[in-house]
Order: sequence, then structure tokens, then C-alpha cells
Amino acid sequence: MNTHTTPVRNFETEISVVVPAFNEAANIPGLVAHLRDILADCKAFEIIVVDDGSTDTTADVMRELIAETTNLSYVRLSRNFGHQAALRAGLSYANGAAVISIDADHQHPPEVVPKLIAKWREGYDIVTTKRNDSIQIPAFKRLTSRAFYAILNRLGEVTVSPGMADFRLLDRRVVNVINDMPEADLFLRGMIPWLGFRTANVEFNVAERLHGNTKYTLRKMTSLAAAGIVAQSMLPLRISILLAGFVAALTVIYVTYALWRLFVNGDAIPGWASVIVCVNLIGALQLIVLGVIGEYLGRVLRESRRRPAFVVSEATLPHREARP
Ligand code: UDP
Ligand code: MG
Repeated sequence: MNTHTTPVRNFETEISVVVPAFNEAANIPGLVAHLRDILADCKAFEIIVVDDGSTDTTADVMRELIAETTNLSYVRLSRNFGHQAALRAGLSYANGAAVISIDADHQHPPEVVPKLIAKWREGYDIVTTKRNDSIQIPAFKRLTSRAFYAILNRLGEVTVSPGMADFRLLDRRVVNVINDMPEADLFLRGMIPWLGFRTANVEFNVAERLHGNTKYTLRKMTSLAAAGIVAQSMLPLRISILLAGFVAALTVIYVTYALWRLFVNGDAIPGWASVIVCVNLIGALQLIVLGVIGEYLGRVLRESRRRPAFVVSEATLPHREARP
């Protein structure tokens, strides 16, 4: 008997699709219809729209849509908790033997979903996607995203490939592991490679956002990048040691020069400018290091409060953990 095959999958729901949405009223109905077409062949599926505290008409649109659509559920977070938290909320409600996350703005083409499912049926536990970086992505986003992954991969323990999208399929086993993770500030893209498991990758051509503008403001992007780096690596903390070495070397050179001037040339270097330069340099370096420590400390504080990653204000399906 082969005991190494994947466990029995006797889930009533085969595929769950989680759609995090923040002010996506214009995008949701079309996406839900499209997904339902694509998933029609599946044994049983559910679509869960996680409303990340939208302030537009998303809630009204969803209430109407649920009334007339089967296999559709709605989870509303009490405020805007951010994309990663919305994804986690979706994962914690999903019932499927496999869970797919997809953006609400039609940038992740539903046509790719069957490819993800096919890979899963081949026996992969995680199917990630990578966007073919094409012209559609604004140059600024492309550049900053490349730089971020370059830094992250140099610092981190695991490699996160650039262009990795939050469009992926996770087997139930993986979803359970993620649901059990206590950290509130989870950077899923870094966490997924860390988990291991059998992973396949599918490439897709990213589409234009159908309606509205990006919901990732520069602030949210920076915050995600900081979370990613702090979650993946402690190297920035060690930079202070490097800086100390650098300053010490500079000091030795400068002192040697000053002594040489004094004893060989017989004159002292005039003081004001050199003192100001030194004081400011040291001050700036210390502030940078303090900032780095603060970034880590702040996150430690946040985690130590043990608050949940998201708060749900309304849900049309029971939470998994609440079930017998
Ligand atoms: N999103 C979210 N909460 C946020 C920001 C974004 O749930 O605070 C959702 C958004 O509705 C979309 C997905 O996350 O479904 C990706 O966001 P967006 O398309 O704005 O990001 P981009 O594609 O520009 O990186
Ligand atoms: Mg988008």
C-alpha cells in the first residue's frame, strides 16, 4: 500500500476561491460571473468575497449578489485591514480541499484558474503564479517591486521570486498550517516558500485593472515591503556592526592624518568644519540604526499584543473553527 500519496480528499467543497476586495464594487459582479463559468466543471466550489472594509457600494452590491447567486459567500471586515489580512480572513473561512486566492480587479485572469487546479490534481500542494512582467505594469511599480525582491532575497533565508503574485492555489494541508500561524503580520509571499511543500509555478500575463485605481497606495506598499524584510531577515540589525567598523576605519585614517600634520608639518587642522562633519555623520548613522531597531521593536510590540489579524463584522458563512 502506498502511504505516501496525498491524503483522502473527502471534502464537500472541492475548490474555494477567495477574493479580497477593497472598494471593488465595479469589479466584483463581473469577476464572480466569470469565475462561476470557469469553475462550472468542478465537483463543488465556493467563492468567498472578503470585503476589506470598503467605503464604496461593495457591501450593497454583495448583498444583492448573494441573494441571487449560489455558492457565493460574503465576509466583511470591520475596517480596512489590508490585503494580506483580507487574504488570511478568506483562508480561515474557506471550506475547500484547495483554496485559490485571486485579486478582484481582473488583473489575475480567471482563465488561469483551471491550470492551477490541474497542477493541484497532479499532486502539488502549492501552485504559485508569476506574472510575466509586461508593459501593463507601470514602470514605477515594476522598478520598486524589482528592487524590493532584490533586497529581500539578498537578506532573507528563502528566495521569493520577483513578480510573484498573491494569485495561488493552496492545498487544505497548507491552508491549515497558515491558519494555525499565530503571527498577525503575515507576509504571505515570503511565508509560502518558507513552508516548503511540493510547489509548482504557473506563469500568466497580467491584465489591466478593469475598473478603478490601484488600492495599494505608496504607504501600503512601503509597509508591506518593511513587513516582508523584517519578517524574513535579521540582517538589517547587523548593519550597525558594519557601520561601526566603517566609522572606526574612517577615524583611524583621519587621526593618522591629523597627527601627521601636527608632527611632520607642525600645524594643527582647523577645527570647526571637521568637528561638525564628524558629529553629523555619527549622529545620522546612529539615527539610521535606531530607526532599524525601532522597526523591529514596533513589530515585536504589535505581535506581543496578540491581537487578531482581522476583525469580521459580517459573514454569510460560519467560520471553520466554530464548526464541530
Ligand atoms: N486590497 C485589499 N485591501 C487593501 C488593498 C487592496 O483587499 O487594503 C485588494 C484589492 O481590492 C485587490 C487586491 O487586494 O483585489 C490587489 O490590490 P490592487 O489591485 O489595488 O493592487 P495592485 O494590483 O495595484 O498591486
Ligand atoms: Mg491589481
